[in-house]
Amino acid sequence: MRTRFGLVLPPWSFAAAGLDRLDVLAGEIGADELVVPAITGPIHSLRLAWPDPAPLFASPGGWHYPADPRAYVAAGLRPVRARWFGTTDELARMIEHARRLGLDVVLRAGFREIPALADAEPHLVAQNAWGQADATGGLCISQPQVRELLRAVWTDLARFGPRRVEIAGWELDAGPGPLSWHPIARRVTAACFCPACRQIAGRAGVAADALAQTVRTNLAAIVAGTADPAALERELAAYGAVRRADAGSWLERVVAEAGCEAAFEVVEPGRGGELGGVPRYWRAKRGPGDAAAAPAGTAGWTLAAGRPAVESGAELVRRTQAAVAAGVGWISYEGVDEAPPDGVTWVKQAVRYGRRSATDAV
Ligand SMILES: [Zn+2]
Repeated sequence: MRTRFGLVLPPWSFAAAGLDRLDVLAGEIGADELVVPAITGPIHSLRLAWPDPAPLFASPGGWHYPADPRAYVAAGLRPVRARWFGTTDELARMIEHARRLGLDVVLRAGFREIPALADAEPHLVAQNAWGQADATGGLCISQPQVRELLRAVWTDLARFGPRRVEIAGWELDAGPGPLSWHPIARRVTAACFCPACRQIAGRAGVAADALAQTVRTNLAAIVAGTADPAALERELAAYGAVRRADAGSWLERVVAEAGCEAAFEVVEPGRGGELGGVPRYWRAKRGPGDAAAAPAGTAGWTLAAGRPAVESGAELVRRTQAAVAAGVGWISYEGVDEAPPDGVTWVKQAVRYGRRSATDAV
């Protein structure tokens, strides 16, 4: 399979820069796909890539286009509008222009961490062993309503005719949680004990209420170093495994019915049990020292286009060649709008060398 190359460009940066900029980017880079974040959590970004009198873009997140509320009736939720756009549907405008340039459109959506959604629906938020909602855990994917929301997002985005929909943040027990300074306590407090998680575990013969009780009574001693956490960690692993299996088999069924190509983000090797056997893509973290290898079997990679994730154009070329050698179906480059102007040159080189090594490999 030929590797496809994509450019991640958010609608807010497109709206600020205009059609000309997309023409230049598409022409210079020679991408196959335009990857557009359509639903996101909070964004705080400074656009260095082109002269902009107002380079800062900040948003509490939400739907970055006028969503069709009818798609969300079955989920019983209202999409939260990201407030930066006016009456123009910038996403539709961007997609229409991308098509004119011959680019396929990929839509990306992540709705686990939209504060307004968590505020409006606190009962869907992940809960700790005390039964308290912890918004840092985002919406819990064991909740039937959250699963319906995923279906609704698909239906809503399908009307734009994307080549693929990428879902970010579809994770169980993924919030940073409290006690992050104590790795064992952090692990012990990570599991969600919302009613949906407890019910799924109960059906699989795991007594969630008793387990939550054990967490509550033992945590202080574990932090103090006076209790051995091994037995509790084993029970929590079993609790995680049955909930991941449930989420994975549900997702496999829904993806098979979706009628649209879908891929789910993983950011760390070893995670993603809740994704079952569905296609996944790896999104490299954007910080310094970001040299971690992608988890095996990922269908696509998203690489950051500029510093500090990569120090030079040559490094981006190397990472691209590594992705091609791993046989990934697509590689997309993120942060071109935030990178200094040489970011575009780096991506251009990476795509050129990436295509060359893909041809050599055939
Ligand atoms: Zn839960």
